[in-house]
Amino acid sequence: MGSMEHYDIIIIGLGPAGATFARLVPDKYHILAIDAKGEADQYRKPCGGLLAPDAQKTIAEMGFHITKDLLVDPQIFSVHTIDFSSKLERHYQRAYVNLDRHAFDMWCIAQMPDRIDRSMDSRVIRIDWQDGNYIIHYRTRSGQTVTASARYIVGADGANSLVRRSLYPTHKMRTYLSIQEWYPHQASHPFYASIFDPEVSDCYSWAMYKDDCFIFGGAYPQAGARERFDRQKKKLRDYGFVLDRPIKREACLVLRPERVADIVTGKHGAYLIGEAAGWISPSSLEGISYALISARELARHFPDMPSYRRLKLKLFGKLLKVPFLYQPTLRRLIMQSGLQSIKVKT
Ligand SMILES: Cc1cc2nc3c(=O)[nH]c(=O)nc-3n(C[C@H](O)[C@H](O)[C@H](O)COP(=O)(O)OP(=O)(O)OC[C@H]3O[C@@H](n4cnc5c(N)ncnc54)[C@H](O)[C@@H]3O)c2cc1C
Repeated sequence: MGSMEHYDIIIIGLGPAGATFARLVPDKYHILAIDAKGEADQYRKPCGGLLAPDAQKTIAEMGFHITKDLLVDPQIFSVHTIDFSSKLERHYQRAYVNLDRHAFDMWCIAQMPDRIDRSMDSRVIRIDWQDGNYIIHYRTRSGQTVTASARYIVGADGANSLVRRSLYPTHKMRTYLSIQEWYPHQASHPFYASIFDPEVSDCYSWAMYKDDCFIFGGAYPQAGARERFDRQKKKLRDYGFVLDRPIKREACLVLRPERVADIVTGKHGAYLIGEAAGWISPSSLEGISYALISARELARHFPDMPSYRRLKLKLFGKLLKVPFLYQPTLRRLIMQSGLQSIKVKT
């Protein structure tokens, strides 16, 4: 094994899943955590940064709380739903907490115990298996390639997980390209919006406000994703959206499981948590609660593999909801009925 450092566990990826696992796993383990994000702030995970009630509940159950410096303005309690196929619009009550996603990620990392070795601004580039250990090769900010070994690895490296692709090279999961643009703040009545337009995407687009910015984004089939995004922007002009001169455009892959069996949680001492495993809501693309819950479950049972029963049930419930949101006739019937909609003064 030469002079490479040996660990009990190497955690790859410190988003909400990896950082929460690191925070909760018993302290008897010698751990290295590696993340491509820099302390110096360059990479930011493209995200809506809306903390859904299930994520809030999980944070409460874990005995944690968040501080006001993670919040952004404004906190909005309804979502404006626009359905292009039926031309219907409705408002629904929502109880999201509007977060600065990058600040939340850095807060999750800051909660990790000091005893955990960490290598930030470092990207894992290869995973080998040798004599009962995983050999992890990662490139540091200075361009140096470093190697470390571990009995166990935890892949918390998000939608495009290298750990998942290494463990399950033939496993396919439905994947979209998510694109977001940021614009200078533009409305006197800030709002959240969900936009369903089957002509552009079989998933959805969204809009929201964060401090001085208006964000428009969506998840699009990867073929022609950029053209679809631009087409959606053009079509939204009729609804009064002004989507000119963005100050930032960002994109990343986002998974959307079609069945519970799409989830892969690892094998042979390698574990997957968060979106790396495929844990994300197929109805809303809400993933933070899944990241937190899967991390907590693994930390509780480690090194045994948890059953993830509660999370599978939650995912199953969201899969049942999908046709009511995405099947145009069912969506039209529900929106027409006004079920659970609220009247919002504009
Ligand atoms: C545009 C968009 C909007 C979204 N909006 C919301 C929302 O409002 N609310 C919500 O709950 N969910 C939302 N989601 C989903 C949510 O962002 C993810 O499901 C969630 O971040 C998953 O957490 P995670 O810790 O599993 O992975 P991630 O948050 O993706 O973290 C993965 C980490 O791994 C690191 N990493 C990746 N590869 C490597 C590597 N090779 N080496 C080292 N490090 C690596 C990355 O730097 C990153 O820090 C959104 C997703 C997208 C794409």
